[in-house]
Amino acid sequence: MVAELEHRTSLVDKLLAEQAQLGTAVEQFSDWHDRGSHDEPLQARHYRSLIPMVRPKAGEQYAFEVNLDQCTGCKACVAACHSLNGLDDDESWRDVGLLVGDVYIPYQQTVTTACHHCVEPACSNGCPVLAYAKDEETGIVRHLDDQCIGCSYCILKCPYDVPKFNKKRGIVRKCDMCHQRLAVGEAPACVQSCPNGAIAIRIVNVSETVAAATSDASTTPTSTYSSGGHLLPDTVSSGYTRPSTRYISSKPVPDTAMAVNAATPPVEHTHGPLVIMLVLTQFAAGTFLFAQSNALVTWIGTAIASLGIGASIAHLGQPLKAWRCFLGLRRSWLSREIVAFGGFPPAGAAAALGFIPSWWVAVIGYVCVFCSVMVYVDTRRPFWQMSQTLPKFFGTGLVLGGALGACFGLVAPGLVLAFTVVKLVLELLYLSRDEEQHTRTKRLLLGPLKVWHFSRFALGMTGAALMLHAPVAGLLVLLAGEILERVIFFRGGAAWRMPGHA
Ligand code: SF4
Ligand code: SF4
Repeated sequence: MVAELEHRTSLVDKLLAEQAQLGTAVEQFSDWHDRGSHDEPLQARHYRSLIPMVRPKAGEQYAFEVNLDQCTGCKACVAACHSLNGLDDDESWRDVGLLVGDVYIPYQQTVTTACHHCVEPACSNGCPVLAYAKDEETGIVRHLDDQCIGCSYCILKCPYDVPKFNKKRGIVRKCDMCHQRLAVGEAPACVQSCPNGAIAIRIVNVSETVAAATSDASTTPTSTYSSGGHLLPDTVSSGYTRPSTRYISSKPVPDTAMAVNAATPPVEHTHGPLVIMLVLTQFAAGTFLFAQSNALVTWIGTAIASLGIGASIAHLGQPLKAWRCFLGLRRSWLSREIVAFGGFPPAGAAAALGFIPSWWVAVIGYVCVFCSVMVYVDTRRPFWQMSQTLPKFFGTGLVLGGALGACFGLVAPGLVLAFTVVKLVLELLYLSRDEEQHTRTKRLLLGPLKVWHFSRFALGMTGAALMLHAPVAGLLVLLAGEILERVIFFRGGAAWRMPGHA
């Protein structure tokens, strides 16, 4: 009996002793986590060093850092971004391209690229409805999908071809640095998926980023590529948006390197509704300029302005939200243009009813046209510089408004002929520009757009000649010529791009 009691006691003691060594469930989980679990992604211990473990302090922000030495162009980052963000089939927020040298400096380098979460984001500064937000703490530039009206202006503004229009949703979308993952210490999809750890998130000092972006120095003391204030060779000057991304490489990147497809730039989007809107509103402004308060002509001018403004609605992916376009008035030329055009047809009607003289409406019309000019100048596309856009937009008003005036005997047909010839000569002179930045557009004008370009001049000359004998026919031919000029304006307006963007 005593022996049996002793045996039971020792068993209980043994069990108690064993239990004392087990530790709590929390301790066990902590141990398991520290040892690394089999459920954790195999790459976890690698990518932990690729993201910061602390949040940015005041004056700092997150930025992509791409180690070119490590990028093999495998596109795992592109696939992971697509999959993790649930993108549609034809959507991509990250691209991989190829930089190549020339015959004198052979060079080849794959480049992965996405949004550069710029210090001065052009996309955000141009948006008429404030559908972008730069996070004050992290510096991540986020697109607010539910605010977007799908006007695509941010696509024209971003010099890195980052925001992408999603036809199905009628809005634009772009990379947000997987901010929700970063907020809980997880790596963005591209960072996590790269088998070579070529992409990292770093914390950068905003003042230093701005200084590097605006520096003319040909090299920096570090291995960061920053030649003459460009993110990479053959990209827009970084002084425009102050991109935060850093490309680093142990090999020097030749300044003469170019995207492999630089010699064959893509023909840009036509933007049909914008072509109609611009030509008709400029036609209307010119009509009021020569109307001499003729009631019929001012009514025609009002109708043309209304048609033009109506056409612009077809350009929007979310037209029902367009009433909010005044929100960006302080910084967006597009917002100013839309608001200004809102007063144009009512002013025209007031002139037609005899309340105000038609030249007042001409002044309002040309203020609107000036806003249109600035919408395109502000994109920094070389073909849309002030010296090109202003004469084109103001000239269209003079040519078409003058031609309509000639049909009513208010303008001498010879004057219309002179306007047209001057405008055509100015357009032709563009081909003599020899700055490097105009190469892509000139390649388009003399390549895939050659026939369009020739037809535009043929229509202009024919319309001008017809004005002398058959003004109505002349007006119609000139109108066709101006529409073609504007199609070329959009299709030939070669965008700045990063390597990898078609
Ligand atoms: S890269 Fe383009 S889309 Fe991204 S923040 Fe800069 S301007 Fe905006
Ligand atoms: S409203 Fe226009 S500019 Fe703003 S985000 Fe949408 S498409 Fe871009």
